[in-house]
Amino acid sequence: MKKNDFEYAYDDIRLDKLNEECGVFGIYSNDNLDVVRSVYYGLYALQHRGQESCGVAVNNNGEISYYKDMGLVPEVFTEHILNCFTGKMAIGHTRYSTTGSSLRENAQPMVINYKEGKLALAHNGNLVNAAQIRQEAESQGAIFQTTTDTEVIASLISRYRVKSDDMLDALKNMMRTVQGGYALVILTPRRMVGIRDPFGIRPLCIGKLKNSYVLASESCALDAVGADYIRDLNPGEIVFIGDNGIESYQTDLPGGSKLCVFEHIYFARPDSVMDGASVYESRLEAGKRLAIEHPVEADLVIGVPDSGLTAALGYSRQSGIPYGEGLIKNRYIGRTFIQPEQGQRETAVRIKLNPLKQAIEGKRIVMIDDSIVRGTTSRRIVQMLKEAGAKEVHMRVSSPPIKYSCHYGIDTPSRKNLVAASCTVEQIRELVAADSLGFLSVEALVNTPKGSKCGFCTACLDGDYPIDVPDEGNKFSIEQKC
Ligand code: SF4
Repeated sequence: MKKNDFEYAYDDIRLDKLNEECGVFGIYSNDNLDVVRSVYYGLYALQHRGQESCGVAVNNNGEISYYKDMGLVPEVFTEHILNCFTGKMAIGHTRYSTTGSSLRENAQPMVINYKEGKLALAHNGNLVNAAQIRQEAESQGAIFQTTTDTEVIASLISRYRVKSDDMLDALKNMMRTVQGGYALVILTPRRMVGIRDPFGIRPLCIGKLKNSYVLASESCALDAVGADYIRDLNPGEIVFIGDNGIESYQTDLPGGSKLCVFEHIYFARPDSVMDGASVYESRLEAGKRLAIEHPVEADLVIGVPDSGLTAALGYSRQSGIPYGEGLIKNRYIGRTFIQPEQGQRETAVRIKLNPLKQAIEGKRIVMIDDSIVRGTTSRRIVQMLKEAGAKEVHMRVSSPPIKYSCHYGIDTPSRKNLVAASCTVEQIRELVAADSLGFLSVEALVNTPKGSKCGFCTACLDGDYPIDVPDEGNKFSIEQKC
C-alpha cells in the first residue's frame, strides 16, 4: 500500500530520533498481591520504552497463561483482561520492534513449551549473532514461529535444558552462545528469573515490596507499584526469585560495564535511577557542561520537549540565561493519529510541537535538544522558531554527534542516514539553519551521571563497539553525503 504524505511525515519524525527499545517487568508475590494489576501499573510506567504492543504472562500454580496484543498498555489491558488471570508471579513486556516486524505474533512475552512445561520470556535488546544461531538451528531441523531474537533465546534455553538437569547450566550455556545487549525476565513453572547481558548494555533492576520481589527495566516502574529499589543486576548476573527469596549467580563470561549511555540522555524517564545514578541529575549536568563547552550570548534558553527540557534547565543555571518554555508538545500524538486525509510533512511536526510565539518573539534563543539523528526535525524546529519571531536560534545538543549505527537494541537509521556520519558540525549547522550549533563532547557526557557504578557504551558516538558487529554500515564513503 502506498504511503500518504502524513504517513511519510510521521516516519520522518520517527526516523529522526533514536527510537526506544522495550520495557520488561516481573513480579513474584509472597503477599497475595494482584500480580497482573502490578504488571499493568509497571508497564504503564515503562510505556515510553515501546508503544507498539504489550502483554502479560502469569504463573498460577505452575501453569503459565498469557495475553498480548498490539497497542498501548491501557488499550490492551482492559478490566476484563485484568480480571481474567490470577497467580503468584507474572511478567510483562512493552515493545518497540527493533528486530522482527511490528506484528501481533512478535508481541511479548513469548511463551514456549519446553522440558519442564511452559516458559515465558520478556526481552529487551538485540543480538548481533541471532541470524547465525537461527540458521544453524534451522539446518538441524528447528522451526521458528516468529522473526524475533527473543525466540532464538527461548529456543536455546529449551535446547540446553534438554541436555542438562540444571536450569542454571542451560541459562549459562544460552548466555555463552548469544552475543549482544539483552535484559531478560523469564517465568518458569516454579520461579521468576532475571538476566542481564555480560556488558550490562541493557538495564534491569530489582525492587522489593513487603515480601514480594520485582524486576524492571527502570526504577520508575518499581515506584509505580510501591516497591523499593534494591539494586541493578550486575553485568552477566542471573537471579532466580522463588519462595526462598533471591538467589544470585555471577557468570564469568567475558564482558565489562557498558550501560547504553543513551539511557541517561534520552530513553529512560528522568525519575529513574540507573546503576546508582539519577537520570534527572545526568541531564541537568549535561546541560551545565554544554553551557561550559559551548557558551553563547542569548536572552532565553528553551528545551525541545521532553528529554531536552532538563538539559535546558542545566544550561540556564550554568550560563545565567533565563529558562522558559518555547515549544509546546502535543502529548497525545501517536500512531493512531495518522489520518490519510491530513496534509503535508511540515504538518506533522507542527502537530507534535508548536512554538510559543509570545515567549520567543524578538529574542535570541538557545534551543537545547537531546540528539540530532538525521537533522530533518531540527531544521523544521529552527524554522518554526524563526517564523515565530526568534531573532537568533542557537542550537545546543546534550549528546555528541551520532556517527555510527547501534546494533544492541536501539533503532538507529543505517549509517548513511546519520547526518553526523558524513557532515562536519558546521555543515550540520548549515543544514538545520541555526545561527550556531554545539554538541556535548563524549568526555563530558560519560562524566554526567553522578555516582554511577557503571561504565558506558558510546559505540554510536565513537565507533568503539564493546561487542563485534557486522561492518555493513561503516563502509560507505563519507564524501558521498555532504
Ligand atoms: S551503540 Fe549507542 S544507542 Fe546503542 S547501546 Fe551503545 S550507546 Fe546505546
